[in-house]
Amino acid sequence: MQRISYCNGHFLPHQHANIVHIEDRGYQFADGVYEVMHVHHGVLVDLAPHLDRLDYSLGELGISYPCSSRRALESLMYEVIRRNRLEYGSIYVQVSRGVSKREFYFPKKPVTPSLVITAQRMQPFNPALLQQGIKIVTLKDARWKRCDIKSIALLAPVLAKQHAAQRGAYETWQVDEEGYITEGASTNAWIVKGKTLQTTPATHSILNGITRQRLMVLAKDMGLKILEKRFTEADILKADEAFLSSTTTYLLPLSSLNGKAVKRGTIALALREKYAEYCARATR
Ligand code: PMP
Repeated sequence: MQRISYCNGHFLPHQHANIVHIEDRGYQFADGVYEVMHVHHGVLVDLAPHLDRLDYSLGELGISYPCSSRRALESLMYEVIRRNRLEYGSIYVQVSRGVSKREFYFPKKPVTPSLVITAQRMQPFNPALLQQGIKIVTLKDARWKRCDIKSIALLAPVLAKQHAAQRGAYETWQVDEEGYITEGASTNAWIVKGKTLQTTPATHSILNGITRQRLMVLAKDMGLKILEKRFTEADILKADEAFLSSTTTYLLPLSSLNGKAVKRGTIALALREKYAEYCARATR
């Protein structure tokens, strides 16, 4: 089946979706934001909080809304889902400030933001990952100081992912100047101590994951406590369990950190189960 993408008013075969202008500020300056949403049974999971975060990112950067309304954007996303006959996968939405002569400051005359929407089918998931756990490595956090904005400026995460790939690891957890873990290149970081889940607080140093927020609600329903407090590599090695979370991975438990064993338990897997049930329930 042909993959269809949306680009600035047009639905195009994906291989021909190459109509972004060379002076698009997203291309020139990474002057734009994005969202990735999970599609379960043809329905977008946690659509409202994802669109709230998109509003926040756009607002922080002073980029105009790319559609006449939130409803109009939702309709476009569902049209991309429909045209791709997407049952399980993800929708990527990118908004850049628009096309303008290459000058650093915002365009003097208002420009129309560029909007791109693509769909991707879910990669087959290897359930052995849940039993084996994943390998994590660490790297100094080289990102800017507004990681709360879901900006398309992703060079530091690209390097962090490559760092992991070259070491046979699944993900890189980034470490701030004081030795605390901020988050993964594209995932949030957690440890488990007894019945408490500890995760980095949602400051400007991390992206407040929608999965992170959903897991907090589900964890409380399971009688677990949440502690939003920074932790170090040493804390991970002492913890009962550690795991990461994101829209596309749900939740994955760690087996090692920089080659050192991380303890395994039952809480991360039980919470993942709750999250999977939530996705099924929310999209029925
Ligand atoms: N942190 C970063 C840096 C990310 O890029 C992502 C993925 N968008 C996350 C955390 C997880 O966020 P979410 O649960 O909304 O996918």
